[in-house]
Amino acid sequence: MQVAVIGAGVGGLVTALRLAKAGHTVTVFEKNAQVGGKLSLWEPDVPGVGAFRFDTGPHVLTMPWAIRELFEDLGERMEDYLHLVRIDPICRYHFADGTVFDAPADPDDAARAVAARFPEYPGDVQGFRDFLTHARRVHDLTVEPFLRQDFSRAIRGVPTPKQWGQLSGFLGLAPWKTIHQTVARYVRHPKLRQIFDLYAFYNGSSPHKASGIFSIIAWVQWGDGTFYLRGGLRTYADALVRLATKFGVTLRTQAAVTGVCIEGATGRGRVTGVEIAGEGCLPFDAVVCNADPLTAYETLIPETHRPPAFTDAGLATLEPSTSAFLLLLGVSGENPLHLRHYNSFLPTDGDAEYTALFERGVPGEDPVIGITCQSVTEPGCAPPGHANLFVMTSPPPLRSPSDWTPEATAAYRDRLLTLLETRCGLPGLRGRIVCEQVWTPRTFEERYGAFRGSLYGLSSNGWRSAFLRPPNTAKGVRGLYFVGGGTHPGGGLPLVTLGGKIVAETILEQK
Ligand SMILES: Cc1cc2nc3c(=O)[nH]c(=O)nc-3n(C[C@H](O)[C@H](O)[C@H](O)COP(=O)(O)OP(=O)(O)OC[C@H]3O[C@@H](n4cnc5c(N)ncnc54)[C@H](O)[C@@H]3O)c2cc1C
Repeated sequence: MQVAVIGAGVGGLVTALRLAKAGHTVTVFEKNAQVGGKLSLWEPDVPGVGAFRFDTGPHVLTMPWAIRELFEDLGERMEDYLHLVRIDPICRYHFADGTVFDAPADPDDAARAVAARFPEYPGDVQGFRDFLTHARRVHDLTVEPFLRQDFSRAIRGVPTPKQWGQLSGFLGLAPWKTIHQTVARYVRHPKLRQIFDLYAFYNGSSPHKASGIFSIIAWVQWGDGTFYLRGGLRTYADALVRLATKFGVTLRTQAAVTGVCIEGATGRGRVTGVEIAGEGCLPFDAVVCNADPLTAYETLIPETHRPPAFTDAGLATLEPSTSAFLLLLGVSGENPLHLRHYNSFLPTDGDAEYTALFERGVPGEDPVIGITCQSVTEPGCAPPGHANLFVMTSPPPLRSPSDWTPEATAAYRDRLLTLLETRCGLPGLRGRIVCEQVWTPRTFEERYGAFRGSLYGLSSNGWRSAFLRPPNTAKGVRGLYFVGGGTHPGGGLPLVTLGGKIVAETILEQK
């Protein structure tokens, strides 16, 4: 079978590798010069200073078993390609009053740290342990039914007894309770609640609307561990490229797909290939779309072959997840001592930002600021006497062509630098910058085709949101599949890696 993959993000590369391993002929079309999608890199060489290396996307790897499983299924050893480094503490949380909480990687140490840092609520130590137990239960009840199968194909007709069991287990988790309500059942300290509310925010959604199922992240962080990859997270994309060469996958870069070729009537279409500018429609038996599915529906798939939710009218009503504003800063001076690898700076009033983002659709005045300092873990990422700071906030997705004009971007950058110099304890930062790159939601839209610049596709605001994403197997068009952060099972490196397995298995079953 001849398979075309649109987009060389992790999901696209993983699907391509699995299909090539099974003996199919796979061509990946990537619009950019570099493959890997959001798993990208910036390597400025500053005259008189030296070379910096920044991961511009992911900085932490969770659920390493999902990546290991890929290598094993391909008959390879993960250790021959990737060097995992456990991050400990998982994160340093900085509160607006100047207090700091390091979250140790070991769950018992973390419970002791909770006791030491939050003595006002002694019950929170047991509450934290119970929350982890709950998170483990969520993990155990959801991995098999949710992360290992294509929803749209899993339940057809009458569910099997096993599926009834999975469904009742899932409903027993009360998924309609929000993450904020779920956290509040276990811990009382407002600062601890603020930390765990971030689990929805990590997925671009509101803790007051997203399901308590996101508490799974606690188990993912503490149970499976949180890792950095020596050489940067980008080394995962490099490993996939090496494997693609080994397994005979054809990678075509600077080859934007301009349309999916479909024949047949509405509701009973069949893919015939992909269209490339200047080359017409190239024939393929199956097409796997790793481009953002919402953008693909908007720009690559004719209206006549879209489900109602993804017609132009349907797309206009959808709520995308948040986007990102990035400041990549190479700075002089040793690593600021108060920064660990991963840091989260929390504002006094967390709810004010959630209200701004999810009720009013504007960036928060005093946002949560994430700072990753890769050079804490790997000093070689910055020249001696320098550090690299990856600073991220989460503004809303694009709503109008006038969002993020150069003037608005400059004003936001300036405001963020002021917050870094004051609330984040980096005085004089402006004077220490030796290289800088700014990314706005528009960068994500233009560079990766992210729908309205959103990082995680549809928002997870609402407990049924996972069921509303475009499914892995397209409705009404045979031979068309979706893989990646915008479809099932969701965003993040482990999930898109598992998504590649789901889609490859589906294609192999259906061929
Ligand atoms: C700032 C940031 C921080 C993150 N942090 C983490 C983290 O710490 N841990 C974690 O696990 N995850 C993190 N993520 C999420 C993770 O990066 C993504 O979920 C994952 O990389 C998405 O993979 P994907 O398969 O959806 O493909 P994408 O990375 O979205 O790639 C899709 C590819 O398709 C290409 N494409 C689009 N349209 C076309 C077309 N018409 N023709 C040809 N090619 C096309 C694009 O150019 C792109 O290369 C982060 C993401 C960002 C942006």
